[in-house]
Amino acid sequence: MQTNTTSEAAPVLPGRRNLLDCDREGLKALFPDRSFRADQVFSWVFGKGVRDIGAMTNLPRDLRQELSLTHEIAYPEVVGSQVAKDRTEKLAYRLRDGAVIESVLIPEKDHWSVCVSSQVGCAMGCRFCFTATMGFRRHLTSGEIVSQVLYPIRAYPERAIRNVVFMGMGEPLLNYDNVIRAAAVITDPEGPMISKRRVTISTCGIVPALSRLALDTEVGLAVSLNAPDDETRSYIMPVNRKYPLAELISALKAYELPRRRRITVEYVLIRGINDSPSHAKRLIRLLHGLRAKVNLIPFNPWPESRLQAPDPADVLAFEDVLRDSPFTVMLRKEKGKDILAACGQLAGGARHGA
Ligand code: SAH
Repeated sequence: MQTNTTSEAAPVLPGRRNLLDCDREGLKALFPDRSFRADQVFSWVFGKGVRDIGAMTNLPRDLRQELSLTHEIAYPEVVGSQVAKDRTEKLAYRLRDGAVIESVLIPEKDHWSVCVSSQVGCAMGCRFCFTATMGFRRHLTSGEIVSQVLYPIRAYPERAIRNVVFMGMGEPLLNYDNVIRAAAVITDPEGPMISKRRVTISTCGIVPALSRLALDTEVGLAVSLNAPDDETRSYIMPVNRKYPLAELISALKAYELPRRRRITVEYVLIRGINDSPSHAKRLIRLLHGLRAKVNLIPFNPWPESRLQAPDPADVLAFEDVLRDSPFTVMLRKEKGKDILAACGQLAGGARHGA
């Protein structure tokens, strides 16, 4: 494990708008009647990843100067990076208001995934999640989300960054507009060009947002289910009191999936809480009729967490029950555990000095 600090944020220029917060529509509004200019700026900012408006060489010099008076390209500052034994890398970014968020770069067989945050902290209060201990501070702007993808693409050109998962800090569907805008930008062929099939928004189950989501984006959906009955789920996820399982499951059934796609059901296994074969059987019944695959995640403990990781034998038994069902089941490999970069271990460096 290593820790280092870098400082490469642009100086703060109050009053200027950050081009990273724009999408295609926003840029078009900047150049009425000249949409080709908006396309050029889009490709400089999100495709080539330039940090300086002056570098947009196919724009006339006076236009660049004019744009620089009102706009800038301001990335969050990288204030820490830790690399785990398995090469998983956690990056801490300081935002302009001083808040710190974390992102994780995850090595896969032949490519990398980025796990991005959508909020500073989180209001959902899930009992098993470290981020919950921070409480909620604010939503991220779309630029702050997009930067978490653009920065590593530029900083690590040798890593093929192909997947983006909204599984970092925060509840993406409570920051709906910025998350949708960020997803559109990162999948744009003139931008970072991540395939829509390789972007996944993960939610704890904000039912009213689910009905809009399929209309607003074609990226994948994951739902953190974590329990097969309301009693268990409400105990570990307070959001279940507002949107109980029956409502959540019927919203998922109504969710219009592109052909051959399935919803990912995430299930964090917690010792003695939701990890018995009987929970697994009830999970199968609950999911009946849903186009879903199940992703099992053994609980990752964090400092002061009261819950415990499951016994590996119970994980296997749970998995076995699910294998005997129509649902594909995957056991998520724990990566980056030694640097608190695994699922549910992000907390903006607030508690562990990242
Ligand atoms: N708010 C979103 C995204 C953030 S959580 C959501 O709820 O989906 C991302 C995933 O990490 C969720 O599936 C969550 O259940 C899981 N998770 C959270 N804390 C965890 C922990 N300590 N160990 C293992 N998985 C955890």
